[in-house]
Parts: sequence; structure tokens; C-alpha cells
Amino acid sequence: MARYTGPVCKLCRREGQKLFLKGQKCYTEKCPIERRAYPPGQHGPAQARRRKQSDYALQLREKQKVKRIYGLPEKQFRSLFEYANHIPGVTGDNLLVALESRLDNIIFRMGFAQSRSQARQIVRHRHVEVNGGIVDVPSFRVSGGDEIAIRAKSKNILPIEASLEARTRPALPEWLALDEKARVGRVVRTPMRSDISFPIQEQLIVELYSK
Ligand code: SF4
Repeated sequence: MARYTGPVCKLCRREGQKLFLKGQKCYTEKCPIERRAYPPGQHGPAQARRRKQSDYALQLREKQKVKRIYGLPEKQFRSLFEYANHIPGVTGDNLLVALESRLDNIIFRMGFAQSRSQARQIVRHRHVEVNGGIVDVPSFRVSGGDEIAIRAKSKNILPIEASLEARTRPALPEWLALDEKARVGRVVRTPMRSDISFPIQEQLIVELYSK
């Protein structure tokens, strides 16, 4: 299925929580989830009144939530899960670490973009170098020690300037280092599950895909 390009606030309302998909606007504008705290669509209010959700519904919603946070279509998310399941370690932890290690996520975490979708566009438009070479693949997996830089000719493009100047941007995680002026960052170490503070129950996703 193609990547979702509709209104992103609907996705937050569907999951019943703020997913911060619009970057700075999520902090400065009134959030629709506060005005309409029920899923979108004609039957949204009725769904919100329904108290008990089945196990399957809980698992599905958790998977959809994580997919939406990282902006991945189902096929890509599923193959990342297969990879996480295949390598040694706890599958759920592996999945989240693999998601965090994507180049578009790193660009977002370093503050070069206000959202992961903007980060994806910055990568696609060839503004990013990894260890001195241009990488235009948002799913590129970075490793500890990698150097991520904005290309010399792109250092002052508007989206990057605006993002770095935004007052509400999230703090830089411990596993990343950044020289903001030079527009260069480094992956100090591979992220760990404990570095991800957003509430995610990855076990539900593992259960869903293990059926
Ligand atoms: Fe989600 Fe941000 Fe829209 Fe609020 S403003 S619903 S957090 S995307």
C-alpha cells in the first residue's frame, strides 16, 4: 500500500493519543485531539464509547501506532519485523532499535527536520551525507560511529534552518552527538530500547505478527 498522504491529525485521533506528526505545529497550534477526542469518521464517537477492545484490536492498534510514528507503509514495516525476528535478541527491542536506526529518524532526532516525513524528504532530495558519501535512502540503517552531515551546499536550506531554530524541538538523545553550526552529527552508539521513552508496547506487535 502506498504511503499515507492525508491529514496526519486524523492518525493521532485514530490512535487516541498525540503522535506529534506535524513537528513544531503540534506544540504551537491547537491540537485537534483535544477538541475531538474520538476516532475520525461517522462512527468515531460510537467507537470511543465502546469500552472493551479485543486482544486482536489492541495488538492491531499498537502496530498501527508505531507504523504511523515512523511513517512506514505496511510492507516495509513487516519486513523490518522479519529482520528483527531473524537477528539475535528480543524481537520487540530489535524492532524498535531498527526503527530508531533509520537515517530519516536520525535526521529528525538531530533536529535537521521537524518531523520524520520532512526528514525523509531531506534525505530523498540528496541533502545528506553518511561518512562522506551522499545517501538518499531514508531506510538506510546507521551504525555506531557513523558521521551524518548535511551537504555543504544544503547547510542553509530553509527547512533545516527553520527546524534548528524551532524553540520546541525535542532534546538530542544521548546516543547522538551534534555540531549544530557545522550541521554535522555522529551516532555515538547504537540506540537501545531504554533510549525510547515514547510509550510503546512492542510485545503486542510481536504477538500480532506471530499469529
Ligand atoms: Fe497529532 Fe500534532 Fe495533529 Fe496533535 S497537532 S493531532 S499531535 S499531528
